[in-house]
Amino acid sequence: MTLKRYEIDKLEHKIIHVKKRGLDLIRDPMLNKGSAFSEKEREEFNLYGLVPPHVSTFEEQIKRVTENYRRKDTDIGKYIFLEALHDRNEILYYALLLRNLEELTPIIYTPTVGMACQQYGHLFRRTRGMYISSKAKGDFKKRIYNWPEDEIDVIVVTDGSRILGLGDLGTSGIGIPIGKLSLYVACAGIYPSKKLPVIIDVGTDNEKLLKDPLYLGEKRHRIKGEEFYEVIDEFIVAAHERWPNALIQFEDFTNDHAFPLLKKYREKLLCFNDDIQGTGGVALAGLLAALRITKGKLCDQRIIFLGAGSAAVGIADMIVAGMVEEGLSRQEAQKKFWFLDSKGLVTTTRGDKLAEHKIPYAREEKFIKSLLDVVKTVKPTSLIGVSKQPGAFSEKIVREMKKYVDIPIIFALSNPTSKSECTPTQAYEWTEGNVVYASGSPFDPVKYKGKTYATGQGNNMYIFPGVGLGAVACKATKITDSMFYTAAKTLAKLVSKEDLQKGRVYPDLKGIREISAHIAASVCDVAYSEGFAWEKRPDNILEFVKSKMFQPVYLPYKPV
Ligand code: NAD
Repeated sequence: MTLKRYEIDKLEHKIIHVKKRGLDLIRDPMLNKGSAFSEKEREEFNLYGLVPPHVSTFEEQIKRVTENYRRKDTDIGKYIFLEALHDRNEILYYALLLRNLEELTPIIYTPTVGMACQQYGHLFRRTRGMYISSKAKGDFKKRIYNWPEDEIDVIVVTDGSRILGLGDLGTSGIGIPIGKLSLYVACAGIYPSKKLPVIIDVGTDNEKLLKDPLYLGEKRHRIKGEEFYEVIDEFIVAAHERWPNALIQFEDFTNDHAFPLLKKYREKLLCFNDDIQGTGGVALAGLLAALRITKGKLCDQRIIFLGAGSAAVGIADMIVAGMVEEGLSRQEAQKKFWFLDSKGLVTTTRGDKLAEHKIPYAREEKFIKSLLDVVKTVKPTSLIGVSKQPGAFSEKIVREMKKYVDIPIIFALSNPTSKSECTPTQAYEWTEGNVVYASGSPFDPVKYKGKTYATGQGNNMYIFPGVGLGAVACKATKITDSMFYTAAKTLAKLVSKEDLQKGRVYPDLKGIREISAHIAASVCDVAYSEGFAWEKRPDNILEFVKSKMFQPVYLPYKPV
């Protein structure tokens, strides 16, 4: 399927009725058009004298903000610039983002957002989202009504305990839900006013933050055990009561909490965990596309994971769902995986107490300590790195793997770039160009023996916005693994032959709106077929989800 860039300049025949006048209108980021208010609007909304005389076109405004953005010479300066734009004119912010997604995503999301979170208390300018303090336990149902919007589609919530690879950042972790929700709007057209970033402040164990006078969170250590779960539960109940159709996305919780929270809520309400399921979906999509190159079957893969945390289990669970679709039983599918954690191969025989999420994948065989020896024993077809151990896929290991398979599949998914288990250049050189490689962080294209390979980046933003849009559009009551599996299959199909020839197992991000629409449609289809969508099934699901997408364009205003 060829993707065309989504048409974003199509003005819909809609009019917005606006009560605000003068500076109140200019200061509302959802309504502000800055220098682009028309003469008629200037007259009708008492704006004369409050904006410069020239009526800018949207293109002129885009040109101005693009120039100003590119003039910033540090990434953090760019982040601050974008957030300031976000705070004063949301339409312009999203138009800029959507037109320059590949350039701006590393700023509004990983890696720069991580730096912004680390300095949050020092950079803070304007509040965004909800800050729920565990000290207010018992009062959440009341406080949730302080949020001004009655309609919310997506809530992204974190407790700031495991922000990207940076660890515990307490309340400063709010930058992550903000960034993820910007991607929801840009990639899938969730309405900006219908998103809600939330930080639940349960304290922090980051001593540096606790000593920082400008830290903006509660200055106390994290609450633990039952008390922690009670606080999260009170928030979930309050949010679900006020916005029963909203999707709740759990984000950047440490994995000792991430798995139990997902297990507790996934059947009760519309929710998912992107670190587990989103990662699983995007990695499975990459693997399915890779199999179009190696001509293998999913259920014939032997897969080694370096790392046995949220990402590893999320990916393996999703691949298991795929293998089950191909006819294996769950138990048969789970036998296709070998997990290594910091101690070595995860086995039932190694004598330590395994974390619950590792148990389904624990091997019953003899314990092996090193990855090289596991590779020698297993002769894997795929090697997936989610260990945060840079260089862990050494030349020796990659060459050993190549002895047993014509085209090894190597996904070095650890972030940021500096944590990658091996680089694409190494992978291509050590396999003489016979490898399917994908990374977690972006890498420049690689030149090997006169051919240029474009590295695929297994970025979750390919999957979660589309899944969210689909779930919200059909008013699904839950998110299932089969939705993510279907989303992964859809994404894999959108990888063109040309992409595969260049070594890319993910499509060009320029087509992200079209990609998200196709994923959303496939997710709706699952919800309708399995009977947990409230919305009536439309004749054309793809057109239906597209019609629900927000477009970052100015609509004409009428005074009320
Ligand atoms: P996590 O902390 O839950 O898990 C890390 C795992 O690595 C643990 O099981 C730990 O035991 C293991 N580990 C540590 N040292 C090791 C060693 N020397 N050898 C083998 N294993 C070792 O983290 P996570 O959420 O699973 O994320 C892991 C990595 O994957 C991160 O770098 C993250 O950025 C990346 N990630 C990438 C994507 C993506 O590409 N789309 C998505 C999610 C996570």
